[in-house]
Parts: sequence; C-alpha cells; structure tokens
Amino acid sequence: MIKKSLFMSICLVSMCFFLGSQLVFGYSTSSLIKNNNKIIYLTFDDGPSIMTDKVLDILKENDVTATFFIIGNQIKGQEAVVKRIFNEGHSIGLHTYTHTYKNIYPSRKGFISEMLKSQNEINDLVGIKPTTIRFPSGSRNHLTKPFLDQLHTYNFKVYDWNACMSDGVNCKTPIDKLYRDATRTKDTEHPIILLMHCDYMHKNTCIALPRVIKYYKNNGYEFKIINDETPENYFPIKNKK
Ligand SMILES: [Zn+2]
Repeated sequence: MIKKSLFMSICLVSMCFFLGSQLVFGYSTSSLIKNNNKIIYLTFDDGPSIMTDKVLDILKENDVTATFFIIGNQIKGQEAVVKRIFNEGHSIGLHTYTHTYKNIYPSRKGFISEMLKSQNEINDLVGIKPTTIRFPSGSRNHLTKPFLDQLHTYNFKVYDWNACMSDGVNCKTPIDKLYRDATRTKDTEHPIILLMHCDYMHKNTCIALPRVIKYYKNNGYEFKIINDETPENYFPIKNKK
C-alpha cells in the first residue's frame, strides 16, 4: 500500500513538472519536434536578370523554393522573370530601387522611398506588395533602433543572413570555393539564411547551386521561403541613435 502511494506520488510530481514546464517555457510536444527541424532559406540578391532565370530552372529541377530580394530598377525588361518567381511559388523581397549607396544610405527617407518605389512596381506586375526587405551589403552599420521602428511603421521586416556563398565579394570565385563557403554552416545555427546572388554576372553561382542544394537535402534540411510570417532576422544593432 505504502509502495503504491509512493508510486502515485512520483507519477503526480512528474506530471506536474511536465505540465509546468509546458506552461513556463511554452513548449508543446509538436513545437519541440518543430524546433529540432533543420530549416534553410535560400536567398538570392540583386536580380532580376537573365541569370535569375537560370537559378529558377535549377530550383525547379530540384523541387525547392527560395526568396529573391530584387532591385526595382532592374525589373524593366525582366518582367517575365519577376512573374516567374511569383508564379513558381518563390517569395519576393525588396532590395531598394537603385542599389546605389549614395542614394540609399545618407537618409532614411531616401532608403524608404526606394523600397516603396520597388514595392509599387512589383505590385503593378504581380499584384503583391512585398514587405520583407534586405539592405544592400547588409544592415550592419546602417540599421539603428529608431530606424527599425520607422521601418516597422511601413510594415517592413528586415532580413540579413547567417551563411554566405561569398559570390557577392567576387562573382568569379571558383566553384569549389563557392560550394565550400555555402555549406560551411554550423549545425547549431537554425534556421540557416543563406545569401547568394543572381545578377547577370553570377554564372559560377548557378554552377555551384545544384551541389549546394544537394548538400542541404542530404543533411535533412527543409527549404522554406521568407514571407510576412517569417520572424525578422537582422545583425545585432550596435548603435542606438
Ligand atoms: Zn545587393
């Protein structure tokens, strides 16, 4: 009898602890499983271009989706590519209108007006107003807390990266090095946001891409797109002003 009540007490305490941990930490069994999932966001900056079309072919062949941060003034003449990005289930983010630092970084107003201009052109073309944005060269040294607050008033959300193919530094980087850089990720880093580029010069990126996709597939990663629901992910903000 004593043994039985002791056993019951242990069960009760264990159950309380389990339920308590669910409440305190907000865990549920399903979210624990989800957190263990490996997720990668393939992201391509600086399109649309002829090479973006090639990237889309590769994504299609490998049955994965990606996110394209596009430059507004490159849309003219590449309208079909933007439509294809949208129609094939990828997501579109904003990467300013001119990508010219002297236009976008001296003032927040200039930066925001370029994002809005690109947003309008995309809306005219495919009927959506993207709110996910990426700073050219990343938000480091540009994003401040007041600036972030201001961007949020436009519903903009900022996405940097935590893995990089290094094709932005030199588009002629040898293919093996591009592959090594793009797969040099930590197992503890989740989700992975991988930066790549797809303007007209990025031929080597296209050659390395199938191997990169294969690597992440073989390692059990799920490929997702960045959209309004994706938690913001930006570099640490150091300056407060
Ligand atoms: Zn860029």
